[in-house]
Amino acid sequence: MRIDVITLFPGMFTGPLTESILQRARETRSDGTSLLDVHFHDLRQFGTGTYKQVDDRPYGGGAGMVLRADVVVKAIEKVTEEGRTEGIRDSDFGIRTSKLNTQHSKLKTPHRIYFSPRGKRLTQANVEKTAKRDWLILLCGHYEGIDQRIIDGGWIDEEISIGDYVLTGGELPAMVLIDAVARQIPGVLGKEESAQEESFSASLGRKKEYPHYTRPEEFRGMRVPDVLLSGHHKEIEKWRKEMSG
Ligand code: SAH
Repeated sequence: MRIDVITLFPGMFTGPLTESILQRARETRSDGTSLLDVHFHDLRQFGTGTYKQVDDRPYGGGAGMVLRADVVVKAIEKVTEEGRTEGIRDSDFGIRTSKLNTQHSKLKTPHRIYFSPRGKRLTQANVEKTAKRDWLILLCGHYEGIDQRIIDGGWIDEEISIGDYVLTGGELPAMVLIDAVARQIPGVLGKEESAQEESFSASLGRKKEYPHYTRPEEFRGMRVPDVLLSGHHKEIEKWRKEMSG
């Protein structure tokens, strides 16, 4: 999957995307592509005038600044064009792991997401659907948000909210989506089952997962439930079903 992120603060993504599972998913495979090929585009470079202005005061007055339609649309169009030419490619992270997969290296239509408190609330079902796409463009708002004409004019396919609270920008929501989507991509997690029987997954009826225990068997007077030590797979399965909810 290719993901293009349009943001005023690409630096915010260092850390979440350069550690652990997401870092590994971004590493280059033997065919020169990555399972997760993420590209960052600084909105500032599409700014207007000598000062590369990206925002302006809202019509009708009020506090805050609004990201300009001309600037944002220029960015979306340029990023779309670039992605079509490049496809899924090498994201320059060394280690070569799994085998050839050129099937998805050509890209046609990006799914363009804008993060907004006004958007549809993100759920695991939506995450699974999104993970099946081969190309996402994520637009991170900042300040007051973006000019509505970017949405009304058809440059955004979906508005997503990560919850009913307001953040300073769309960068954290973008990281949340990338993280949730990445672990649904086959090969990203060590064991594939681990993405299947999980909280909110279809196989758990969208319910919350059962609790987990590991060694020691007794910790400060608390014992691991007997059924988990019994070795009876049917019983364990039954217990886990009961404990999900
Ligand atoms: N004026 C807006 C808030 C803007 S917050 C309002 O009252 O609705 C600035 C940016 O942060 C937004 O453009 C959006 O991209 C992002 N953002 C803030 N909260 C968010 C949330 N809960 N979900 C998704 N994006 C959010």
